[in-house]
Amino acid sequence: MIETEVNTSGTVDPMRQLARLRTAFDSGLTRARDARKRRLVELRRFLVECESEITQALSADLGRPAFEAYASEIAFTKGEITYALEHLARWMRPERVRTPLLAQPGRSFIIHEPRGLVLVIGPWNYPLQLVLGPLVGAMAAGCCTLLKPSEIAPATSELLCSRLGDFVDPDWVQVVAGGVAETTALLAEPFDYIFFTGGEVVGRIVMEAAAKRLTPVALELGGKSPCLVDRTADLDVAARRIIWGKTYNAGQTCVAPDHVIVHQHVFEPLLDRLKKTIHEFFGANPRTSPDYGRIVSERHHRRLVQLLEGAGVVAAGGEHDLASRYFAPTIVREIPESAPIQHEEIFGPILPVIPTADIDEAIARVNRRPKPLALYLFANDAKLEREVLERTSSGGVLVNHTLLHLAVPGLPFGGVGASGFGAYHGRASFQTFSHAKAVLKKRTWFDPDVFYPPYTASKTRIGRWFL
Ligand code: NAD
Repeated sequence: MIETEVNTSGTVDPMRQLARLRTAFDSGLTRARDARKRRLVELRRFLVECESEITQALSADLGRPAFEAYASEIAFTKGEITYALEHLARWMRPERVRTPLLAQPGRSFIIHEPRGLVLVIGPWNYPLQLVLGPLVGAMAAGCCTLLKPSEIAPATSELLCSRLGDFVDPDWVQVVAGGVAETTALLAEPFDYIFFTGGEVVGRIVMEAAAKRLTPVALELGGKSPCLVDRTADLDVAARRIIWGKTYNAGQTCVAPDHVIVHQHVFEPLLDRLKKTIHEFFGANPRTSPDYGRIVSERHHRRLVQLLEGAGVVAAGGEHDLASRYFAPTIVREIPESAPIQHEEIFGPILPVIPTADIDEAIARVNRRPKPLALYLFANDAKLEREVLERTSSGGVLVNHTLLHLAVPGLPFGGVGASGFGAYHGRASFQTFSHAKAVLKKRTWFDPDVFYPPYTASKTRIGRWFL
């Protein structure tokens, strides 16, 4: 860390980090396209050259299998960088729009202006991707960024603090470690944009703090993403894809299928296949599988144990061990409507399976609850698919798979209602971190009196013709 960010006691001072970024942004150094591209290439180098350090940090924080670490944190972020590098020239180009007769002769266009100094606050579940993914968009848009990774994933946070600055120009990016106190202090500072990923409770705190300065925010929150399984679904494929989505990162994924709502005619066959799939993926004892992660902290482990109590009949799994933070892939059925698991985001490897009489009942159930981040549908029926798309609201929809819609850079990723607002990935990231500045450029050689006072009867008649 260079001297300017260190205070007299030799510790890194977030306010100095902030001041450095503000000065850098105000100097205009982020405006040029080539400079933005260079930063993106530097970020890619960090991912490539620190791959093993990243993998180790994720293993320490989450027991994350190496392949999952590579796929969802490293490869995913590299993919976002490559996409941004390929498209940046087009994204940055001013967009011409039609100029109506009233404003003729003139030219109208939109300029994509960098928002400025941005604060990115990340969660612990994908502790690298969920700060570096937004950073790709912020750098592409020409912003300077302060990253605040989650303290609940300390190894990853420490890695970002100590190594990112070796690769990416510190005038563009700084990292601040810390938890509630540090984030609270940062939120009192003047940012031009705040990009928050986390839970609803903290989302409200962030939005309240931002409101004091009228700072715009994006809130990437969670919720209970339902998974509907129709009787026309291919049950073998559905079971594999649901268990994959539910056990990836031990269920600690914002878009993990939270619970399954299945047509009553295929309830038992699906349940059998779900159980069989757990066995196929992780063997008789998932505890010994190298491909199954751990719960991030004792607090979250206890939360899951509590959720399981009173959650109905355990149809598979249910074993857990606090010392090793192991929680088996677990299926529950016959869940009382009042059980907390019916209402709280599970965010772990417990899968409630709930029978439903038909699609109307399933849709009504979804619509009674806060709008989810994702909705999954397994069906082979185009009419039913249309009905679900039209009659439900969610951040995104994926038909016949889970999680994978995040990997499509052309699709904006974000919530709606209680699952948040503001979207990113691909072009949406660039747009989120840019202000769409409206510009109308008029000529001076034509300046008729007709719109200026005094509004005489004849001027009014002609003026009305233009409007
Ligand atoms: P969290 O809300 O507890 O914490 C997120 C961040 O906020 C952390 O950096 C933390 O240090 C900070 N923070 C915590 N308390 C704070 C406070 N009082 N004041 C200011 N800052 C505070 O979330 P989490 O537990 O890290 O993540 C889990 C949640 O995030 C789940 O609800 C999940 O669905 C959601 N999530 C959403 C997405 C998405 O892309 N939409 C992705 C991952 C996780």
